[in-house]
Amino acid sequence: MDNTLGKKPLPSLEFVWNMLNLEGTLKAGMFKCPGHEDRNASLSVFESRDRSCLLWKCHAGCGKGDAVDFYAMVKGCSRKAAFRILTLTPNEIVDDFAAHIVRKSKEALRDDTLRPSFQFSKAGIDERLTQLAELRKIPLEGVALAYRRGLLGFGSLKGYAAWVVYDSSGQNIQARRLSGHLWWGKSKSHTMRHSKASLPVGLPESYLAKVVHITEGAPDLIAAHAIIAGMATPEDHSAIGLLGASMHPSKAVFSPLEGKDVVIWAHSDSHGTKAAEAWTKTLFGVARSVVVLKAEDILPGHKDLNDLVASQTGMRAILSKLKEVGHA
Ligand SMILES: [Zn+2]
Repeated sequence: MDNTLGKKPLPSLEFVWNMLNLEGTLKAGMFKCPGHEDRNASLSVFESRDRSCLLWKCHAGCGKGDAVDFYAMVKGCSRKAAFRILTLTPNEIVDDFAAHIVRKSKEALRDDTLRPSFQFSKAGIDERLTQLAELRKIPLEGVALAYRRGLLGFGSLKGYAAWVVYDSSGQNIQARRLSGHLWWGKSKSHTMRHSKASLPVGLPESYLAKVVHITEGAPDLIAAHAIIAGMATPEDHSAIGLLGASMHPSKAVFSPLEGKDVVIWAHSDSHGTKAAEAWTKTLFGVARSVVVLKAEDILPGHKDLNDLVASQTGMRAILSKLKEVGHA
């Protein structure tokens, strides 16, 4: 059995029932099945033969089994995924999932050896977070959240202080200067050599989220965290960044977003609009739902999410828009 994998003991059916916020106290008997629209009580709950735990069976055909099978049935995931979620710690899940993304991206991009690298530094982190918050006019709590979630790092490149976006898959690292100046006087961002530039940043960290915000470019990825930090349940939300409007990941790359609600924050230009359309198309049949929100439709005259977050009334306008579409 796969039971040796997890560090946490396998939870009971009663525990999973409560974890899923289902009604009533679970014991042997008949209950309403959360797996289908159940007018009668067609879920039978009974003791296992050795009386060590409760098992279940839905008489309408949703399935039967133990606590792991029950979680998988309600969440619509595989037994394997349910097992991981129930037995691994959140950090272990992210590590496990990062390995999965690396495998997926290798398959999709046919490259299995070279990895981007960057000279990370944790020195003076509070000052750097503040500096970036001021540079991009993004509320500090958003910048700090992106850092805590492992999507933002600091260090130096060619002797210049830099901030980078990356994730635990380690496949794509893009650097910008902390001073706001251009690299070598010409480009805003520098993609580290051997990066899989078309790979979204933040996929592994989105594993447990219900709502995933897709953003274009590194500044919007950080800006999205300011919105998430302002939510009632930040843990339900995550953000991923496509580092350019010309990036078009395949369905396989987007597969970790299966069953999730997606919000695409489109830039108010023709490239941004086209990119959002293309991403929506790819996400069809993968995500549970996709809404595209364009900056200028939320507040006229604004070009992107960073721009909105930086403006006086932007945050409130964003949150009310998200409420309107049912994601806040
Ligand atoms: Zn059922």
